[in-house]
Amino acid sequence: MKAAVFSSPQGVRIVDVPVPRIGRGEVLLRVCAASLCGTDLRIARRGHGSIPQGVQRILGHEVVGEIVEVGEGVADLAEGMLVLVAPNYGCGKCRFCVAGAQHHCPSGKALGITEDGGFAEYMRVPEEAVRQGNIFPLPPEADPVMFSFVEALACVVHGFLPLSVSFRDTVLIYGAGPIGLMFLELARLSGAREVWMADISPSRLERAAARGARTIVVGEKKVKDVLRDVDVVIVAAPAPDAQREALEVAGVFGRINFFGGLPPGTPEVPLATNLIHYKELFVTGTTRSNNIHIRTALDLLVRQLDLSYLVSHTLPLEAIEEGLRLMEGKDALKVVLIP
Ligand SMILES: [Zn+2]
Ligand SMILES: [Zn+2]
Repeated sequence: MKAAVFSSPQGVRIVDVPVPRIGRGEVLLRVCAASLCGTDLRIARRGHGSIPQGVQRILGHEVVGEIVEVGEGVADLAEGMLVLVAPNYGCGKCRFCVAGAQHHCPSGKALGITEDGGFAEYMRVPEEAVRQGNIFPLPPEADPVMFSFVEALACVVHGFLPLSVSFRDTVLIYGAGPIGLMFLELARLSGAREVWMADISPSRLERAAARGARTIVVGEKKVKDVLRDVDVVIVAAPAPDAQREALEVAGVFGRINFFGGLPPGTPEVPLATNLIHYKELFVTGTTRSNNIHIRTALDLLVRQLDLSYLVSHTLPLEAIEEGLRLMEGKDALKVVLIP
């Protein structure tokens, strides 16, 4: 079968590999759609700590597939089911796993990062992942392309819930990429009074405006010259300046999420901590997602949210390099690969 394999220092290549064989408790999927995300781009260009030199890893952690084979002992899944695979799973026993936070398990694994993922014609789901409920059946009529970004939406759900957004809130989102737009949709769904989006790209902001956001082109204006006393600030961009400014534009009791991590090697960001103290700000960060967030994101897509406008490109698997370049170009939203 064809697979998009990452190895260091070669980067991502399309290679022929054997179709995976499954064992007891495992499941084999024919991949229907797999979405590219910023993490894939980072791995493709800069590598990843858990993919040492000499290791070949099939990337792809936002995956929808059809079950084509079910191992002995798997009771509730069957051939022909359309399913979504949640990438993160842990040992199942540590204090993080039992609290449902398997993405913090010290021996946690991630499909498409520490294990082979879904940028391939077929994908094996390991026994621990099957046992821990990482395979979510989808409605048979679900569009695989749309549901391939449940995982991305799950990370956004994870970042959004601690901010307790309600109808009283003005929300500001830095970064109008697909993640920022998902935050916009959740803010609207929660009845936020006003949602602002700030980005350096006017074309991205046009899309945000079409979805009901008020917009600020960073570079033409400073956000703090336009807005003050913001109730909720989400920094969905890898921008130290936005993190600093978030503390300034937040109002008393403001809630802030530094959602976007900063690239390794970024110098430490000096923050005006007195703003946190005197305005009694709540400042948090969130990373990745676990199965609670996946369940919530999936239900949102089934019942309440149409995010089809986020799909800017669908490409064959062989065109993964083109997909990665589209993402670097900043004009693409979600790029989905169809093996
Ligand atoms: Zn992702
Ligand atoms: Zn664990």
